[in-house]
Amino acid sequence: MPPAHPFDTSGLLDLGEDDTLHEECGIFGVVGVQDASTFVALGLHALQHRGQEAGGIVAHDPEQGFNNARRFGYVRDNFTSQKIMETLPGPLSIGHVRYSTSGSKGQTAIRDVQPFFGEFSMGGAAIAHNGNITNANTLRRELIERGSIFQSSSDSECIIHLMARSMGRSIPDRMEEALRKVEGAFSVVAMTRTKLIGVRDPLGVRPLVLGKIGDGWALSSETCALDIIGAEFVREIEPGEMVVINTDGVQSHFPFRRQKPRFCIFEHVYFSRPDSILGGRSVYETREAIGRELAKESPVEADLVCPVPDSGTPAAIGFSLESGIPYAMGIIRNQYMGRTFIEPTEQIRNMGVRLKLNVNRALIKGKRVILVDDSVVRGTTSRKIKEMILDAGAKEVHFRIASPPTAWPCFYGVDTPQREKLLAATMSEDEMREHLAVDSLKFISLDGLYRAVGEAQGRNPTCPQYCDACFSGEYPVKPADMVEQGFQMKPAAE
Ligand code: SF4
Repeated sequence: MPPAHPFDTSGLLDLGEDDTLHEECGIFGVVGVQDASTFVALGLHALQHRGQEAGGIVAHDPEQGFNNARRFGYVRDNFTSQKIMETLPGPLSIGHVRYSTSGSKGQTAIRDVQPFFGEFSMGGAAIAHNGNITNANTLRRELIERGSIFQSSSDSECIIHLMARSMGRSIPDRMEEALRKVEGAFSVVAMTRTKLIGVRDPLGVRPLVLGKIGDGWALSSETCALDIIGAEFVREIEPGEMVVINTDGVQSHFPFRRQKPRFCIFEHVYFSRPDSILGGRSVYETREAIGRELAKESPVEADLVCPVPDSGTPAAIGFSLESGIPYAMGIIRNQYMGRTFIEPTEQIRNMGVRLKLNVNRALIKGKRVILVDDSVVRGTTSRKIKEMILDAGAKEVHFRIASPPTAWPCFYGVDTPQREKLLAATMSEDEMREHLAVDSLKFISLDGLYRAVGEAQGRNPTCPQYCDACFSGEYPVKPADMVEQGFQMKPAAE
């Protein structure tokens, strides 16, 4: 594990005080360029916001075969070392960054760090997965009963064991057969000795894009990581599509039963980087549009619009542009917080949010302030921010939230607290306003959010265009494992 740092608040995660949602993984792969692993390291660095706990890279070289390196911590602290990168030669490489799942925060073993590797009769294959398999417990149980020996606690390892049991004649065939048995959300990058493979689940819940770099190709969770390696964005891998890429080019097919796509709408609000393109739209512009919708839906008289940095910034700019109320950086974020895991002292724990965010007192004093944030999860951070703003002398505090109330957990690859810990699961909007003790609190409506992502008519209630289960409670794929463990789904008629 990396050394502890006394000013590291991420230890708060272990104390159940974390108050943000976390994307659990980012994936990247490159074929057809010299020292492909170097490009993968750069790509993973650009995807670090999708997972900071650990990262891994596998590379293949025709002479040296497969090599891998898996490490805890940031990409920049591990995969910039010449010593490590020299062990990963070859023209084909994939990588993965992860945020630990709720059951294993801070306790992940290195064996849980992807990519996973399997040796098959037709050669080796490595695989990296973003998403969450909702029937993983059942699959794991069945596989163990039939003799599979698991090396990790990760759901994603099921894919390797399913491939091992397949009678398919090639690795892509085996992967296809394995993924047909998997339920839930998956974007996958995988590699054989000669091929880079990309797959997206039939609903296309998590993103995956294709890029061109010189004579080679790249696959990435987001377009921002293509930019960093100088690759040209070609297109998104479509929901339900499998691409098999080698030096001859890209072969595409659709091995799963076609379904209406349900991309994660929260990627637009929060998870993806604002410099990425999703569904042909700039994430930054979508977030600005969310702010404009919020201003139309929930106007309020005030002197300043301030973002809760950094993810609230584009929505706050949109709110300001629409309302005509001046935008100001009323809260400043310390950009140099670490994320290693420690047990903070009582004194540091009490500092809480102040270690990350500080109020710009000179701007705030005597003002009626609109604070724009991306979401309210447990509400603990919102409360502390409100106190800081009032301490700085604000006259009024109005919260405007760029997503609807998060009342349901995500089971598709985003780490959310259990339902009872979500503020919106137990309180109405009015009760939340009272609980946070602010002058007003308004969330964007689900229809408003859909309009902001480009659906002019809003949400289609009979056939929603996106996955929005954490707001609506309508899960596009039944979370079978969780239901087995007692999770109560929303009744269909509610
Ligand atoms: S439940 Fe929410 S966070 Fe999870 S995939 Fe659906 S929209 Fe995204």
